[in-house]
Amino acid sequence: MKKRFFLGGTVALLVLGLNSCNRPLSIWQDEEKINVVATSTMVTDLVQVIGGDKVEVVGMMKAGVDPHSYEQTASDVAAMNTADVIFYSGLHLEGHVQEGLEKRAAKGDDVYAVTKNMSKAELIQPEEEYQDYADPHVWGDPELWSKTIDVVVTGLTKESPEFADEFKARGEEYRAQLLDLKDWSKKRIAEVPADQRVLVTSHDAFFYFAKAYDFEVKGLQGLSTENISGVKDVENLITFIKGRQLKMIFPESSVNKKGIQTVAQKAGVSLSHEELFSDAMGDLGDVVELHGESYDRGTYIGMQKHNINTVVDGLK
Ligand SMILES: [Zn+2]
Repeated sequence: MKKRFFLGGTVALLVLGLNSCNRPLSIWQDEEKINVVATSTMVTDLVQVIGGDKVEVVGMMKAGVDPHSYEQTASDVAAMNTADVIFYSGLHLEGHVQEGLEKRAAKGDDVYAVTKNMSKAELIQPEEEYQDYADPHVWGDPELWSKTIDVVVTGLTKESPEFADEFKARGEEYRAQLLDLKDWSKKRIAEVPADQRVLVTSHDAFFYFAKAYDFEVKGLQGLSTENISGVKDVENLITFIKGRQLKMIFPESSVNKKGIQTVAQKAGVSLSHEELFSDAMGDLGDVVELHGESYDRGTYIGMQKHNINTVVDGLK
């Protein structure tokens, strides 16, 4: 659906130009493309991969930004008001943004949660807090994350049906890459002795990772970074780390490191120098070379390879 809110090229440029001398005349560089707003860095990458040169994607959240606590800005609202389509992660990952997105969808805007096709059986239901909500950190398993592809292919095809075959082909190619990524990850994780396959991090972002790769996980904070850990949580985690004689625990790029640093000091365990990418990827173009291959930590595939290599090299 093209530009529901947009006034039309010349008139809009004139209005914006008169009102705001210091701002760009339009949010979008190329209105011939499908103008997309995406929320988290993982969703932005997904839409860019499938849309290719047919989309212009504005990513709301940048590298290292925590989606649980993110508040939308005035420029986010302006971008959403003029976008053709909006994609978000869903399952209440974007805790302060989702309700507004649902309202836009109810009004008839093209707004999609990329996780909407995941079945209850595929989603992990938390045991205690947030009983009603499934765990939103589904990208921890590349195979499950591949279920988001069809939502994006369908959403983009609705905007530009003439490119349907192209979106479908890129979606299928990407699905194969994600399944290859899972195979590669399993092979690397086999290097860690079974009794050391324990991942201790800042918050509970790795349950899908754990299920995919047969790991045990413990987070200092709960499923959302907005849960504050208490003294008891810290003590329990320290007891656990000592009991399992873990070699290393891991900070996350989108969560303040103070809490996990305290745990590491008190438990007498190493804290990884490399942060894990839990809820946000790295900067696009942050290419590293490791173990004879290179990958960009600002892409979903690079983010996952970084996490797997960091965990395996730290624990094996
Ligand atoms: Zn999280």
